[in-house]
Amino acid sequence: MSDCEARRLVGATAGEGGDAMSATIPDSLRLEEMTSPEVRAALDDGWTTVVVAVGATEQHGPHLPLLVDAVRGDRLAEEVARRLGGALVAPTIRVGCSEHHMAFAGTLSLRRSTLEAICIDYCVSLARHGFERICFVPSHGGNFGPLADMLDDLRRAVAPKCHVAAFTDLMGFAAAWTEAVEEVSGLGARVGGHADIAESSEMLVLRPDLVRHEWVAEGCTEPLAEIVERMFREGLHAVAPNGILGDARGLSEEIGRRCLERTAELITEALRE
Ligand SMILES: [Zn+2]
Repeated sequence: MSDCEARRLVGATAGEGGDAMSATIPDSLRLEEMTSPEVRAALDDGWTTVVVAVGATEQHGPHLPLLVDAVRGDRLAEEVARRLGGALVAPTIRVGCSEHHMAFAGTLSLRRSTLEAICIDYCVSLARHGFERICFVPSHGGNFGPLADMLDDLRRAVAPKCHVAAFTDLMGFAAAWTEAVEEVSGLGARVGGHADIAESSEMLVLRPDLVRHEWVAEGCTEPLAEIVERMFREGLHAVAPNGILGDARGLSEEIGRRCLERTAELITEALRE
């Protein structure tokens, strides 16, 4: 099989004067949608970075489905990969550390040790094929701490040929949401960090068919920084009986697009450093 047959690459160039590494762009950045020969060709072409989103399957108030963090992970990973350049997207880890949501029916939660084992196995698998840089992007608040704690172990598992990075700035992520919502609507104070105006608006972009508008509501409106410790200790239901941190009212597609864009930029900048 010739190189040309082995890959199904579009002829597009990555911008004027794009370097050899990015001279060709795979049709899809998603490993799952590529054939193995296409992955091989992309790696040989210098697409040696891979982005892995770490999401959740957990309650998101009365108005949003359990998949919010997983589907945002899919989108954020792709947005970050496009911005980084030379980067593919691994399958999103769709269940994360959600112990603090377990009072709500349907939530699934991994032990930290389970999530770490999964992340290590992702890294080892990806490194064996020649990926040189693995970027973890948590799309669920409960995964930031565990990812930060396991980062040294992940790095040791694939060093020195492959480098592992993770975005772990939870408060920075929340601040980007607040800024984006404030800019578009002046309702930045409604961002609380979970099933709020930001997250609900993102769902209007990602899966509008799954938003239950009649159940959109206000939740716990105390600042995240003041309740975050108690929430992880006692469970989210202790601070927000309806499962919402912040206020979901006022959601809009425009807010959702701005939130996705702003967080993708923030994460990309952090991973570049
Ligand atoms: Zn969420």
